[in-house]
Amino acid sequence: GKGAAMVTAVAYRLAEQSRQIAQTLSEFRLTTDQLLEVKQRMRTEIQNGLSKATQESATVKMLPTFVCSTPDGTENGDFLALDLGGTNFRVLMVKIRSGKKRTVEMHNKIYAIPLEVMQGTGEELFDHIVHCISDFLDYMGMKNARLPLGFTFSFPCLQTSLDAGVLVTWTKGFKATDCEGEDVVGLLREAIKRREEFDLDVVAIVNDTVGTMMTCAYEEPTCEIGLIAGTGSNACYMEEMRNIEMIDSNEGRMCVNMEWGAFGDNGCLDDIRTEYDRAVDDFSLNPGKQRYEKMCSGMYLGEIVRNILIDLTKRGFLFRGQISETLKTRGIFETKFLSQIESDRLALLQVRSILQHLGLDSTCDDSIIVKEVCGAVSRRAAQLCGAGMAAVVDKIRENRGLDYLNITVGVDGTLYKLHPHFSRIMHKTVKELAPHCHVNFLLSEDGSGKGAALITAVGVRLRQEVNS
Ligand code: BGC
Ligand code: MG
Repeated sequence: GKGAAMVTAVAYRLAEQSRQIAQTLSEFRLTTDQLLEVKQRMRTEIQNGLSKATQESATVKMLPTFVCSTPDGTENGDFLALDLGGTNFRVLMVKIRSGKKRTVEMHNKIYAIPLEVMQGTGEELFDHIVHCISDFLDYMGMKNARLPLGFTFSFPCLQTSLDAGVLVTWTKGFKATDCEGEDVVGLLREAIKRREEFDLDVVAIVNDTVGTMMTCAYEEPTCEIGLIAGTGSNACYMEEMRNIEMIDSNEGRMCVNMEWGAFGDNGCLDDIRTEYDRAVDDFSLNPGKQRYEKMCSGMYLGEIVRNILIDLTKRGFLFRGQISETLKTRGIFETKFLSQIESDRLALLQVRSILQHLGLDSTCDDSIIVKEVCGAVSRRAAQLCGAGMAAVVDKIRENRGLDYLNITVGVDGTLYKLHPHFSRIMHKTVKELAPHCHVNFLLSEDGSGKGAALITAVGVRLRQEVNS
C-alpha cells in the first residue's frame, strides 16, 4: 500500500544520501600508491631546495639554521627564551646545569597576543613582545641581568648566522606589516632599545622544529629530526653539509629547516587537493601558500571539516539542511574539538553535546556523519605528514649509504599530542612507506623553549671560543 511505498522511498533516499556522503569523503582516501607518489614528490622538492640552481624558485626552501651539532651535555647557564608562533606565546627562563647530574629547570609564563597585534604593524607586535618580556622579568625579579636570549620564532627565516634571520613570509595566523624581508633579531633588538628599560643579549633565532630536535637530542643522541604537527606543520633534520649547496663548507652536517608546509605551492599536489582544500586556501590569510600545511595542520583541519559540513548541509544531508550562523563562522573547529569528537571513548550523545556547545543543533544521525567527516580529514592529514617524513628518513638513509637506518624524530605540536588517532596513523604510514628505516618518535616536553636555550648555550660557548 501507500505506507509501504513511502517507507521504500525513505529507505531509498537514505541509501542514496549515504552513498553521496561516502562519495564525498572518498576524495580524502589516499591509496598507498598515491602516498608513495607524495613521498617521491617531497623528495624531488627537497632536492630542489638544496641545489643552488633551483633553490630560488624552490617551494620547500631547505633553510640552513647554523646549528651544526646536537647537544653534548656541556651546555650550562641561565637563559631567557621566547616562543612565538605556536598555539601560545610564552616567555621562559631556562636554567641548564651540566656535569654528572645534568638538570634543566624552567619557569614560563603564557601571554596572549591579541588578533589586532598579530595582524597589526610590526612595531606594535615587537613592542608587545618586549612588554611581555618586561612583565616576565619583573615576575622573576631579574630585570638587571643582561641575560642571553634564544628566540624561537616559528616562521620561515633566511638565516645568515645563528643570530640573524630574515622573515621570508608570515604563515598561520600572523600578518603584521613591515616584517617580511626584515631581520627579525634586528626588529627585536630595536624594540628592546625603544623601551629603554632593560638589555638582553639576543644570541640565537630558532625554528620550533629545531628547538624540538635539540630538546630530544639532549636525552636521546639518535634524534636528528624535528617535527611539528601543531597549529602549523614543518620538519628539520641534520643534512650533510656537502648537500647544502647554499653553504660553501662541505664538512660535517647542519640542521636544515625544511619549511615543508609550502610543499605543493607549485601545484604538485593539485591532483589530490579537493574543492574543500581550495576553499580553505582561498579564504586564508595567505592564499596559494603553505598548501601542504593547509592539508596537515591543526589550524586548517577544522576549516576543511567546516567546509565539508557546509556542503553536506546545502545538499540536505545534515542539520536539516539549515546552515546556522555558527557553521558560517571561520575557525570554530579548533584542534581540541576535533580531538574530542574523534575520541573513541566518547558516546555519540557526547559528540552531540560538543556540537551543541559550538551552537550546532544535531540529530543522532548528524553526529555520526560529523564524526566520519572529522575522521576522513584527520586521517588524510596524518598520512600526508607520514609520507613527508618517509621522504626525509629515506633521504638520510641514502646520505649515509645505509641499507637500514635507525633514527629518532623529536615531535611536538597540539595535533600530535591531543588528537586520539593522528600520531598512530602517522607512525604507521612512515613504517609502510619507508620500510628500510626504523623510526622512533620521541615526544618533546616543552621543546621550543628548552631547545632555544640549548642552542643559545652552544652559541654563547662558540662565541667565547672565538674570542679566546
Ligand atoms: C612555519 C614553520 C613552523 C611550523 C610549525 C609553519 O607555518 O612556516 O616555520 O615550523 O609552522 O610551527
Ligand atoms: Mg610550539
